[in-house]
This record gives sequence, structure tokens and C-alpha cells, in this order.
Amino acid sequence: MNDSVSVNQNMLLTALSGELPETRLSSYRKHQGGIARLQLDALSQITEVSSELTLDETDYLSIVEGIMMMSENSGIIHYENNHMYLYLRVILKPTDEPVIVIQEVISTLQSLLNFLKRIGLVLLLALILIFFASLSITQHALAPIKKAWKKQVDFTSDASHELRTPLFIIQTNLECATDNPTETIQENEQWFNNIKIETSRMTKLVNDLLTLSRTDSNEQAIKKVDFNLGEVFGNTIAMIKPYAEKTNITLYASIQPDMIMNGDEELIKRLAVILLDNAIKYTPSYGKIFICADQNVRNIVIKISDTGIGIGKEHIDKIFDRFYQVDGIRSSNLQGSGLGLSLAKWIVTEHNGSIVVESEVGNGSKFVITLPVVR
Ligand code: ADP
Repeated sequence: MNDSVSVNQNMLLTALSGELPETRLSSYRKHQGGIARLQLDALSQITEVSSELTLDETDYLSIVEGIMMMSENSGIIHYENNHMYLYLRVILKPTDEPVIVIQEVISTLQSLLNFLKRIGLVLLLALILIFFASLSITQHALAPIKKAWKKQVDFTSDASHELRTPLFIIQTNLECATDNPTETIQENEQWFNNIKIETSRMTKLVNDLLTLSRTDSNEQAIKKVDFNLGEVFGNTIAMIKPYAEKTNITLYASIQPDMIMNGDEELIKRLAVILLDNAIKYTPSYGKIFICADQNVRNIVIKISDTGIGIGKEHIDKIFDRFYQVDGIRSSNLQGSGLGLSLAKWIVTEHNGSIVVESEVGNGSKFVITLPVVR
């Protein structure tokens, strides 16, 4: 404090040279505020101001008035209660016009307050930054949870929607069958047949839903054993053949015998049924289906192609999504729920394989499954 109330070298140099100092002398640095140089005329009127201070004209006039009344040429002047200025008053030769240099004195308390203000500002900025950073991290972390939640909600609503149709058909057919209690079962055969079809459709749907929900919660246990994939496909083709013959579809199969792979036999059977069932479902009468399966050193490659209705390019990416059905399929008589291929994809992925489809509307489809031979 003692240092700061004495005129310093900076003030002297400012008075003489007219240049405001670029740097503060180290010993005064803490208490030194801005400097102002005021050039006066012989009548003590301000003629020129060069200043680093944020004062206006009336402030300078009041300060100069105060300094001109001081008996000492240097000292300290108080202005408006909370401001202190060191001042130096000199008469410069040869004009004999006075020059006043003032320098704000920053008290320890003031500099502490300034420091706190700056720290406060930095803290505020840091808090704002932390707020936005944590907001973005939280959103980032919540994204997969939101996605899983949406998937679950969609799954439940799609499943209920799919179950509503067979239930509705069963209910209306039952009403028709029980409307005339005097009629025999044979006379109502048509209604009972419809109920049978819808019940088996519902059973398949519920089974698929169960498997998918188990896969979601990782409850679907996979029992991997060595088995003959050629045999699995051969049996499935034999089982499904009568179904194809109903619509005069011919199946051509070329299956390499003794293709041993390590995997879940039941799931691979299910994969074969899904793909063959689709090929028959989406191939019109008198169409053809080709099944080819052979093994190279690393993989077993299964190709199932048909001469069916084909799939439009815009649907190719989506057919493996749950409940996705190409427009028109849902409203047609073809029984399906849009779950088959999503299950097929899951089965293939679980066996570290891949499934791709090539298709053209009106020209048929070709599904290629590659399964690694793991021993
Ligand atoms: P869906 O139970 O409806 O058959 P999938 O998941 O098995 O459900 O198939 C999804 C959609 O992909 C089907 O609705 C159908 O539009 C299309 N699709 C699947 N396989 C074939 C195929 N071989 N030929 C033409 N379209 C097919």
C-alpha cells in the first residue's frame, strides 16, 4: 500500500513523454490500475485526454478540479467514495501548461473482489460447460436404452396386432358354427376348418414370438453339437414336398452328403423350414424351387432360389425386420406374420454366418446362407 501511494516511474514517464506505458512495473503490479494523461491549458481547461480508464468527461473534470485544489503536486485523491487515484501534477516547459497524470489505485480488497469476479465467471463458464457436457453424455448413454424401450413397445403392439386377426377369425367362425345348434359338425365343417387353420397359424405365431422374446433376453439357449446339415435339409425338403405339390411347384435339390457342422440342429431345421416355406408361399403354381448346398474348406453354402413373385429393391433391406411384410402380402391370403426372416437372420448370426438375398420383382428370389464349419 505504501508503494502504491507514491508516484511511480510510469506516471513520470507518461507525464514527460505523453505515451501511456505498455507494461506495469513489477513491484506495483498488484495495485496498479489504468493510467490517464490529461493535458491542460493555462486556464486549467482539459485540452487533451489519453486514457486507459473508463471515465467520462464529467469524471475527468471533477478529478482535475480536485487535483488543482491540492497543495501537493503529487499524492492521492478520492473520487466518488470507492475510487482512489494517484496523481502527479507537473508544469511542462516551455509552454508552462500543466499536465496531470492519474493512475487508479486498486486496493487489496478491490483486487480480491476483481479476482473473485474473474474466478466466479470462470466457474460459471465451467458449470455451463459441465452442464452441456453431462447433458450430451447422458443423452448418449440413454440412446440405446431408449432404442431398446421403443423396440419393446413396438414388439408388444405388433404382436398384439398380429394375434388380433386370427382371434377375430376364430371368434366369428365359432359364432357361425354355434348359430344353429341343430346342425351337425359335418354341416359346419367349413367354419371348423377355418378355426383349425387360424389356430395353427396362431400356434406358429406364438412360438415365433416366444423364441424372439427369448432371444432378446438372451434366454434362448443354443445347444451346439456336430450334426449332418445335408441330412437336416434333406429331411426338411421331404417333409415340405407334399405342401409344394399341392400347388404343382417342383423342388430341385442338390445337397452334398455328409456336411458336418457344429451348431444347434433344431435351429438349423427351423431355418430350413422358414426359407423353404417362404419359397413355396411366394411362388405361384407350376413354379420351381432350387435348393443347393455344398461345403468348401471353411463354409457350408446353401442357396435357395425360386421362380416366385420376387421382392422389390426398396424392400430388400427391410424384410429381415420383425413384422415386416411387403405391401399387399399382409392383405393377401398367404399366411405369414413377418417374423420368419427375422428369426432366420438371428439363427444365422448366432452361428456366425451370413444371409443375403438377391431378387427381382416377377423373376424370383435367391437366398444365400453361409455358415462356417466350426469343429
Ligand atoms: P412372412 O411370415 O410374411 O413370410 P418373413 O419374415 O418370412 O414373413 O418374410 C418377410 C417378407 O419378405 C414377406 O412378407 C415377403 O413379402 C418377403 N419374402 C420372403 N421370402 C420371399 C420369397 N422367397 N419370395 C418373395 N418374397 C419373399
